[in-house]
Amino acid sequence: MRPGPAFNRRKEADKKTVDWIIEEVSGRDGEREARRGLVKEAIDAMSLFYRYKKLAAKNKVKYRFAVEVARRLEAEHSKGLERFGTRRRVEMERAMERAMEAIPSCYGGDHSLCKTHSLVCRHPKTWKPSSLSKPTRGNIKLNASDRKELHAIMQHRLGKTGLEKTRKGTNSNKCESVNRRISKSQPKNLTRSRTLAGRLASAIHSSNNGVGLSIAMKRYAAGIPLSKHSPTVRVLQKMMKRQRYKRAYKKEEGTKTRARMNVVKKFNAYDETREQGTYKSTEEDAGKGRRRSARRRVPRVNTDHMSLIV
Ligand SMILES: [Zn+2]
Repeated sequence: MRPGPAFNRRKEADKKTVDWIIEEVSGRDGEREARRGLVKEAIDAMSLFYRYKKLAAKNKVKYRFAVEVARRLEAEHSKGLERFGTRRRVEMERAMERAMEAIPSCYGGDHSLCKTHSLVCRHPKTWKPSSLSKPTRGNIKLNASDRKELHAIMQHRLGKTGLEKTRKGTNSNKCESVNRRISKSQPKNLTRSRTLAGRLASAIHSSNNGVGLSIAMKRYAAGIPLSKHSPTVRVLQKMMKRQRYKRAYKKEEGTKTRARMNVVKKFNAYDETREQGTYKSTEEDAGKGRRRSARRRVPRVNTDHMSLIV
């Protein structure tokens, strides 16, 4: 970041003060050596302060850049998965290799490689580095060592081993969801050695088809189909409707964009409060001198219909 005119004026004023002190201390022009030493010391002390301020700003940019790069690599990867699927491994590797070549100069504002190499920064829409603050967008010039470091980081995500590890496009959220589903039909406090395989298969079936539909299908396959007029069918249909709505809502582009924009908004709000220098945690403020009341327990509604039916 370039210091503004106010910064320069203050620096100028500080220099004048230093000069004035030197004049007072040294008195005569003859004592040049002592004066030079003092000037050097004063300027060093000053620049240390300025350097510190610069360093804080630099660290902020660094942190934002890290967040931004992670987002960019993830976007390139998911676009690649969309295009090549999980089976066209070699093509995916090549595409990611090309993307990694384009990314460093993309942040410097040069998109000439992006057009052919990147999967997300293409004509007519270039990639928006929304995690970066506005003055740094398209202005991050990387030197040779920076590029080397960035390349190592990118290799970690989009290199051969990284791709192999994430080939199926799972994430911790998805894995945990399957774990949750399995522990529902195979609780850890019970050992069912004979029916384990069937129970696991049942859990996955339910995860893939939705709870309501899966129950109806299983009953049908077992030769005990539900009657059309059974009240259970109505309940299952309701469950399916709710589940489908929730899944569709989470996948909507609008929901995703809103979630992303909330993160950007938080970043911007943080920037503003930091610049004003009046940032105070509201939580800390509210808790001062006051005792917190005990949390009220919300009554739990049991929606676990599986335990009743299966
Ligand atoms: Zn670009």
